[in-house]
Amino acid sequence: MDIIITTTDSIEGTTITRYIDVLRSSMVVGTDLSLADLFSGTSQKYRSQLNTIYDRAMVDLKLKCAAVGADAIVGLHTDFEEIFGKGKTKFVVSLIGTAVKLDKSKSFFLEGEETAVAADVLRRQQLLLSLRRKMSDDNYALNESDWENILRYSLVDLAPLIYHRYLLLTKATVSDIPLSEKKLLLDNFIPFLKSMNYEDAANVVYDDVHTDPYCTADVVEKCHLFHPEKIVRLLNHDNKHLIISLLVADKASYSIHDLELMKKIADFIDNLPDTGHYEEGKGNLFGKSGTLLVCERGHTTAVELGGHCTEMLEHGLGICNLNVKGLTEAEIDIISQFKQKIEILDSLLKR
Ligand SMILES: [Zn+2]
Repeated sequence: MDIIITTTDSIEGTTITRYIDVLRSSMVVGTDLSLADLFSGTSQKYRSQLNTIYDRAMVDLKLKCAAVGADAIVGLHTDFEEIFGKGKTKFVVSLIGTAVKLDKSKSFFLEGEETAVAADVLRRQQLLLSLRRKMSDDNYALNESDWENILRYSLVDLAPLIYHRYLLLTKATVSDIPLSEKKLLLDNFIPFLKSMNYEDAANVVYDDVHTDPYCTADVVEKCHLFHPEKIVRLLNHDNKHLIISLLVADKASYSIHDLELMKKIADFIDNLPDTGHYEEGKGNLFGKSGTLLVCERGHTTAVELGGHCTEMLEHGLGICNLNVKGLTEAEIDIISQFKQKIEILDSLLKR
């Protein structure tokens, strides 16, 4: 495997004939030092560990490049990210580049080379096939060594299957999933999803938004998978709670196109129909007086216009909290934060 990797956009002596895909390889190392410690050079040990995972990420990127049939990676970009959690710091080294096909008639360095498959590429395909077969059985529990392989060989093709399992796991009812598998899933799934490229990860999550909307919103937020285009496709009054819950999340960067779509989402929310209505109270001895809100659950409460129902719910579920549009105070807060984001982006992008 003779794959050329460069930070430049072109390769001397040859021509790019096709752009295949943006590839990303991420490796994680756990430590108890901060990024600042590392770069100030206080810890030789972690610097060398960082170098090791950088090398591993490079090998992994070459494997992925070969797997998609590309000859080279151009525009290579390196990213270091620090993740906190469970009292421990982890570093993620990510290499991102564009896999391209080269004009072989012009490239002297590829001439006369035999077609060959690297052992790791073969191993990856084997693992993929065997895990896919195992996972077709709903009762199969991913074990520690499966997870090691999934992360080491970036078996991203398995992500939809694993996500399905992850959704079942977070269901409120006690499920049949064994505790050990639960722990492994909870520990590994989010970092795995984060190691994938944005579009691929978003496809996995947004493909199944109805099984457990609460879990979906949580994953979208944790993995910074806010995706205006996919949310616009969900715009429907029946999805309003899901849509609002997705607005909490971020994405790595926002384009003018994103901003336009975000305005469309805000517009949809502004035009949500009323699910409750207002009534004038009769004001007699026993009835409530003034303006009354009748919420979609049929409670009648004396609140001001724009207020939220104060009736207690059964089974100790707290207060109803819906306004005339069927939205809670927390949702109204999310919407106002979202609109503020739009305003700020508007001014930043129009400079
Ligand atoms: Zn109510």
